[in-house]
Amino acid sequence: TELSRIRNFSIIAHIDHGKSTLADRFIQVCGGLTNREMAEQVLDSMDLERERGITIKAQSVTLNYKARDGVEYKLNFIDTPGHVDFSYEVSRSLFACEGALLVVDAGQGVEAQSVANCYTAIEQGLEVVPVLNKMDLPQAEPDRVSQEIEDIIGIEATDAVRCSAKSGMGVEDVLEDLIKRIPPPEGDENAPLQALIIDSWFDNYLGVVSLVRVRQGVLRKGDKIQIKSTGKAWNADKVGIFTPKPTETGELGTGEVGFVVAGIKDIHGAPVGDTIVSNKFADETPQIPGFKKVKPQVYAGLFPVSSDDYEEFRDALSKLTLNDASLFFEPENSDALGFGFRCGFLGMLHMEIIQERLEREYNIDLITTAPTVVYEVVTRNGETITVSNPSSLPDVGSIEEMREPIVEASILVPQEYLGNVIALCEEKRGVQTNMLFLANQVQLTYELPMAEVVLDFFDRIKSASRGFASLDYHFKRFQTANLVRLDVLINGERVDALALIVHREQSHYRGRALIDKMKELIPRQMFDIAIQASIGNQVVARVTVKALRKNVTAKCYGGDVSRKKKLLQKQKEGKKRMKQLGNVEVPQEAFLAVLKVD
Ligand code: GDP
Ligand code: MG
Repeated sequence: TELSRIRNFSIIAHIDHGKSTLADRFIQVCGGLTNREMAEQVLDSMDLERERGITIKAQSVTLNYKARDGVEYKLNFIDTPGHVDFSYEVSRSLFACEGALLVVDAGQGVEAQSVANCYTAIEQGLEVVPVLNKMDLPQAEPDRVSQEIEDIIGIEATDAVRCSAKSGMGVEDVLEDLIKRIPPPEGDENAPLQALIIDSWFDNYLGVVSLVRVRQGVLRKGDKIQIKSTGKAWNADKVGIFTPKPTETGELGTGEVGFVVAGIKDIHGAPVGDTIVSNKFADETPQIPGFKKVKPQVYAGLFPVSSDDYEEFRDALSKLTLNDASLFFEPENSDALGFGFRCGFLGMLHMEIIQERLEREYNIDLITTAPTVVYEVVTRNGETITVSNPSSLPDVGSIEEMREPIVEASILVPQEYLGNVIALCEEKRGVQTNMLFLANQVQLTYELPMAEVVLDFFDRIKSASRGFASLDYHFKRFQTANLVRLDVLINGERVDALALIVHREQSHYRGRALIDKMKELIPRQMFDIAIQASIGNQVVARVTVKALRKNVTAKCYGGDVSRKKKLLQKQKEGKKRMKQLGNVEVPQEAFLAVLKVD
């Protein structure tokens, strides 16, 4: 295809502003699928994504659109996830594009996540085209929202197309606008092949499938290609595009986006961000400067409830990393929980999704320990180590300095909730660095300890603002902090899997709150259970779970057998997620008690 007839773009939108619905409309308008195939929201293909209504993996679709000028354009669009945990996927999708559609709900206005993604797009030199969606709703305020886009993002928006992805109104105008405003790709078709790997995933039948953007030259079926960073040569067995069905075309020209399958069996053999070149010209074709690798931000221990599941668990994690290079894991051995894995995640949502997939797709019951961020510790002998597991924190005596990660958070909030949000940020030890009053919203910038942000900050900010505030954040730096390890003892035994790293000033309060919550979560047993919180050798709080045999079935009337059965069944299911610590049975919830205290 001639370069002038190609447009590569992403869609930037806040969750629920209508990105997937609009994308599906595009597919429909361009005839990419028959109506029957047009299952609702085809782009969110994983069941889990569909249930949670979010897009996790970037996906691409190539569409042919016959424009009003009579020319048929090839539109490649790459869907992007909307959640902050996955913002790095947005950035890498943008690398494959010349432009981005910014979809804004005309009733809601601009949200922090989209602002952050727009800045990334603009930094990467992309043309950002605003679109006002949900114009069918009575609460749509397009003029106000256009003004907001101009104020916050700084792009012209008075002429932004107004549409309804739901009714289809204005959808073709969006496509026309996009063709007019987004420039076509550039590149030399006759130069040796150079293609960027935007994404790679593992397919059970095909092996590794890579989504690529050809920068120069042509990628043809049968070509001998090389993955630049590994230096390994492969044969391009299948080359094609997603329409959205995978469709072999035999070649991808300069500026095009599509897939290649080359018999690679391990996802690390085709790393995201790497460059594919022609094997013959490998030496003289450089790497395309890729995007930065993401590091896990949140770590937690995952332990199978039954130690018989350990091998299966290891296999499941290996399989998951085939599709998710951002998931990290290494063996962890806990005195309390036995053999498991310390896993690293991009954020709490990522952690929940992985946990859910392990349980749903692999049928493994897990105990998860409290998530923690990564700390830097300078030891007395001058070494700097990173600690992602509270129980592996060195002795207090050998620590010179501890540093915690600080994020820069950007918050957009309607003025009426400003007070609530500021109070929350202060409570979380935030330091305000900027406050900007806009037409209807206020843009706040705070520096906050990452540990305070990753756990429940997002939910808290939502409830402090009736869902109207939005949040985006990124790691800024490590900062010296007075941190200590808070240990929990059950019947006098320190439980390594329950240790936390906390601020010294908050440690007594946190210790008290934590064990109070645990007291609620640990069921009464045949004997008293003492729960203590301690720092070093000093016990800072103590509670007792009184002995009591609760006979739950006693409450039922004599004859109601089915009700009795149900109760017993419920008890049994509850038991599955118990772990025996000494002679005490501790349920999963107790290990995550820290998430339940405010
Ligand atoms: P995404 O999270 O940005 O992908 O948003 P979705 O496309 O999943 O849409 C979120 C919700 O908004 C869904 O319930 C859609 O049906 C609805 N929606 C999307 N576009 C429109 C629109 O133009 N008008 C109305 N009324 N609802 C819409
Ligand atoms: Mg979506």
